[in-house]
Amino acid sequence: MMSGPTDAAALFDSAHGVLAGGVSAAARIPPYLERPFYQTRGTGPYIEDLTGRRFIDFNMSNGAALLGHDHPAVREAVTVGLALGIIAGAETAYHERLARTLTEIIPAAERVRFATNGSDVTMIAVRLARHATGRTRIVKFDGHYHGLTELFLFRRDESGAVVPSSGGVPPAWGDDVLICHWNDAAAFEAIMARHGDEIAAVICEPVHYNAGCIPPAPGFLALLRERTRECGSVLIFDEVLSGFRMALGGVQEWSGVTPDLCTLAKALSNGMPLAAVAGRADLMAGFSPSGPVAHSGTYSGHPLSILAGQATLDALRAPGVYDALNALATDFYRDLQAIFDRHGVPVVVQGLGARFGLYFGRRAPVTTYADAVAHNHGLHRRFVVACLERGLYLPAYTKQGPPGHNGFSLAHTPAVMADALAIMDGAAGSLRA
Ligand code: PMP
Repeated sequence: MMSGPTDAAALFDSAHGVLAGGVSAAARIPPYLERPFYQTRGTGPYIEDLTGRRFIDFNMSNGAALLGHDHPAVREAVTVGLALGIIAGAETAYHERLARTLTEIIPAAERVRFATNGSDVTMIAVRLARHATGRTRIVKFDGHYHGLTELFLFRRDESGAVVPSSGGVPPAWGDDVLICHWNDAAAFEAIMARHGDEIAAVICEPVHYNAGCIPPAPGFLALLRERTRECGSVLIFDEVLSGFRMALGGVQEWSGVTPDLCTLAKALSNGMPLAAVAGRADLMAGFSPSGPVAHSGTYSGHPLSILAGQATLDALRAPGVYDALNALATDFYRDLQAIFDRHGVPVVVQGLGARFGLYFGRRAPVTTYADAVAHNHGLHRRFVVACLERGLYLPAYTKQGPPGHNGFSLAHTPAVMADALAIMDGAAGSLRA
């Protein structure tokens, strides 16, 4: 293997001369490092940096590597795809098989359409809903992340007005976007009472992991289900991040609420680029070529990713996987909370399944986006830096805004989690100094 640079600062400096902003994705600069965390290798629950130093990884490819890095069955599946000739732009029998598997495990999935990444599938799910309803407006929730399509690049400013959250987005397109508070039943009722017959789709992260981990309040998803049905709007669960996370069938299985459409990616293929939109057969018939709704793509359902997806779901389907995952999660979140409590550091640990958020400066559960944003950023920063120094990578610190999400994989054995807790214990202790 080519020996590479070992000086991260020098590499970042050099990257600035050739990569826009020095990176290939904006989120690859943890604000506390002010440069990328350059990875050279991933193995099971670990990553290595440029110097060969090993860290316990609590990012896991932004949640994609739920089985762990370099999982043998996924690696083997990709090898099979390589032997087919690295073909793209082609349909194979493997696509039919993986789609069938999804219809067996995802409650909403009567039909499946594969794509490449999460942004693709949230975009085409809304396009499908607009076609089916003949309406254009959508309802989304404060801070919920659905990728990079123009439609989703809106936020509310201090006055409550809907404004672009990115340069290059026409402000007028925000007329089609209504933004509601997450877990605010009265606000949602009011929007649907006033605008229900204009709403093509209501889209949400059914567990708001992109703000750490804010589960739906009891009855909130059922309310979304009822009102969208009454108003003839399409309910979309964006399960790009929540999918497979706490139950094989995702939040739909965990909550018992079935949306009309859902989107899947990340853990679907354990690190290979693959996404899917799945849902009601009558809606899905709208996609071309059976209907008029555009979707295609050279890399859509790339065979290497499809094979990786099958290997991933076969591993996740094995008996006992979710009992073990949820037991590990429950113990870990309880023990981590106890560590913070013992050190007198005000933090709420909120996790569901394999992903979690840390809310510094709080003692009460976080149920709203505003509460998540109001966490103590400075204390959070000191903690993640102290963890990194001790060999644990936590990705979720943000300078402003809510904390992001951290998570573990099935390769994080109880022994690895115990090592992680020991590191976090030391880091929490150092905050008192
Ligand atoms: N939806 C959700 C809920 C996500 O978390 C993400 C990615 N963080 C996306 C959509 C976009 O997915 P991708 O990065 O694969 O485009």
